[in-house]
Amino acid sequence: MQITGVTQHHVSHELADSFRPNWIPGYPQGSHEAEVFEIETDAGITGISASPSFAGGLDYATPLSLFLQGEDPHDVEGIVRKLETVDLIGPRPWHLELALWDIVGKDAGKPVYELLGGSDDPIRAYASTGEVQPADERIEYVQDRVDEGFEAVKLRIAERSDLDVVRAVREAFPDLTLMVDANKGWTVRVMEEETQWSVAEAEAVARELADIGGIEWFEEPLPRHDYAGYARLRDAAAVPIAGGEFNAGPQELYEFLDHDAVDVLQPDAALVTGIKRAVEVAGAARNQGVRFVPHTWTNAIGFAANLHVMAAIGADWCEFPHDPPWTPEAWSAPIHGEFAAEDGTVTPPKGPGLGVELDRDLLEGK
Ligand SMILES: [Mg+2]
Repeated sequence: MQITGVTQHHVSHELADSFRPNWIPGYPQGSHEAEVFEIETDAGITGISASPSFAGGLDYATPLSLFLQGEDPHDVEGIVRKLETVDLIGPRPWHLELALWDIVGKDAGKPVYELLGGSDDPIRAYASTGEVQPADERIEYVQDRVDEGFEAVKLRIAERSDLDVVRAVREAFPDLTLMVDANKGWTVRVMEEETQWSVAEAEAVARELADIGGIEWFEEPLPRHDYAGYARLRDAAAVPIAGGEFNAGPQELYEFLDHDAVDVLQPDAALVTGIKRAVEVAGAARNQGVRFVPHTWTNAIGFAANLHVMAAIGADWCEFPHDPPWTPEAWSAPIHGEFAAEDGTVTPPKGPGLGVELDRDLLEGK
């Protein structure tokens, strides 16, 4: 089998309202933008992948064809060795590897998790917010998620004073598992720069979180490359420290492991590793007693890929993005149907490959 071509579609999906994610400080996001790729083969099988994008789009199908045309998609390792050089002159390549697995799975008639030795057991999910909101609004939101069956929620903080929201949610829901994400690993600085913390400041926040109690992890309290800072914080903090969702590639995840820098490693297969490297890094993490819980916040194709990784490695949580207007319906836009959590759990799609299909009407602007 040979790859014969790459087709790119820019997808833009209006959100019902403006969304103010903690990772784009000061910027109200009005739409969900993605670049969707189809990798075609001479066997008539097409694999799909997607990357987050800018409004207006970012075209790179033509240079990608140079790397992919004529290759056998089953040679994932060989193609990854080529793709990992794409970002020397262009965008991050990792999401493209998802399309190879989609092809390989469709060719075998099996879901990706099965090819990787995983099972379709339900994975417990946590509802993941994106905005910092006032306590009363957050309590209402959490009540809705608890009513749906979620037993864990991830809250965002941008400033130390936002801990008041975490405290209020804890008081209202004494038994709820809470993750807390400070989004100081990276932000998109189109409008404002995020507040950064020293290790000592992050440690003070961690101390308050330990007092609040029931904190599953404290995520991205420091810049993503400050491995030594993470290691010092992890040593000092009484809550687990998490990071790695948007580092530049697998090597940087091994830096986290080499520095004993985190308790929870969170690379996103669509952003940092692809599927194969994710499974490899997860194995290395496990050998060091480090948990592996992928970030999933891109779109339904990235979510599906991360879900296959989770199913393959037995991850203990699945991030389920849900913070209106960023609803499962909104982030599932590139595919038919939408992902849903049931009783606070998610199961990987059972169809061959990634198990999701593109919404042709959306691609054709209908
Ligand atoms: Mg995060």
